Amino acid sequence: MLFYQTTVGDLMYRKLLIVIALALAFASFASAGDVNFRIGANGSVEIQGLRFLDMDNYLRSDFFREQGMRCGAKSPLPGVAESSIAKSVADCTATVTSIQAEYWPLSVTYVMPLWFHVIYRSDGAGYVSDERINAQIQVLNEDYGAMTGTMGADGYNTRIQFELAGITRTQNDAWFDDDDQDAYKPALNQDPSRFINVYSTSASGYLGYAYFPQDSAGQWWDGIVLLHAAVGGRYNGFSFYDQGRTLVHEMGHYLGLYHTFEGYSTCINSYTGGDLIVDTPAEGEDHYGCTQTYTCSSPDPIHNYMDYTDDICMYQFSAEQANRTVCSLVNYRSATYRVVADEPGDEPGDGPSGGEGGEGTPALGAILTHLLQSE
Ligand SMILES: [Zn+2]
Repeated sequence: MLFYQTTVGDLMYRKLLIVIALALAFASFASAGDVNFRIGANGSVEIQGLRFLDMDNYLRSDFFREQGMRCGAKSPLPGVAESSIAKSVADCTATVTSIQAEYWPLSVTYVMPLWFHVIYRSDGAGYVSDERINAQIQVLNEDYGAMTGTMGADGYNTRIQFELAGITRTQNDAWFDDDDQDAYKPALNQDPSRFINVYSTSASGYLGYAYFPQDSAGQWWDGIVLLHAAVGGRYNGFSFYDQGRTLVHEMGHYLGLYHTFEGYSTCINSYTGGDLIVDTPAEGEDHYGCTQTYTCSSPDPIHNYMDYTDDICMYQFSAEQANRTVCSLVNYRSATYRVVADEPGDEPGDGPSGGEGGEGTPALGAILTHLLQSE
């Protein structure tokens, strides 16, 4: 599952120790790198020796569903990082949610800086433009802020917003294949305790995967990996996932949210089972497309961002999901945001007003480009 360069003597031994130490943390993650995923020049998709005519066929295939390629995020390991947090981590552990009014902020917005790392292939595959990245950030803010007049308007304003801190671009064929995140993440990441790190690669054939703050906050592997084709704004042309919501979904995991179908056919709906959220109805299986189903006798939450439905179908966080995201943020990612007070006259859902509180304006820009030649 993990790869490292052949070295000699102490260095190899040390790396081996690191690999062993990290094996526990990675045990919760479906192994990227064993997948051998490739998008051909003619648009065909190859994965594990299977070949699909195009992306639409891949995304609607039994393989895509049965192998769980919609999302590679897996449940965190309880207790790994919690002991180092002093605040009210008990309110949103890996196994419990305790809804507290303090996590529904009324007059402030939490603004999180995000570094975007584009890793592309020598033939140009996977290159993502500044325009697509900026449109992607806009989608995050529309959906997390339930901004009036946007595609996210019918959701819930989590009071979390995002700003682009910078972009790196790296040409490296091996890294693009996503088979060695233990190489590219330490090389590229910006302090994971202070920044969201998003990497676009082939993502091993997943649409994306992420790590939960409850066991990975601030670690070098912390962050989100996206299939490059899924990056972008509204109607970006990427098949059934063309609204930029793959990152909205993965960011939900990054902020501590589980899939709405967590627990599957157990149909448990409690603060200690399923997705640890009660105002998202229990759901017996992951859901694709956009047809209302009743797998646990109540309407399945097919419009929730944490399901697997088509992008155009998902446009909601619940109030309790919003509560858990803010809880996860302030307890596990306390150095990864700044607080911006609303200005008088701000309408709910308009997002941060910016600049208030003496923190200065967001560090938009600061574009940094790395060009590393693949070997
Ligand atoms: Zn997911």
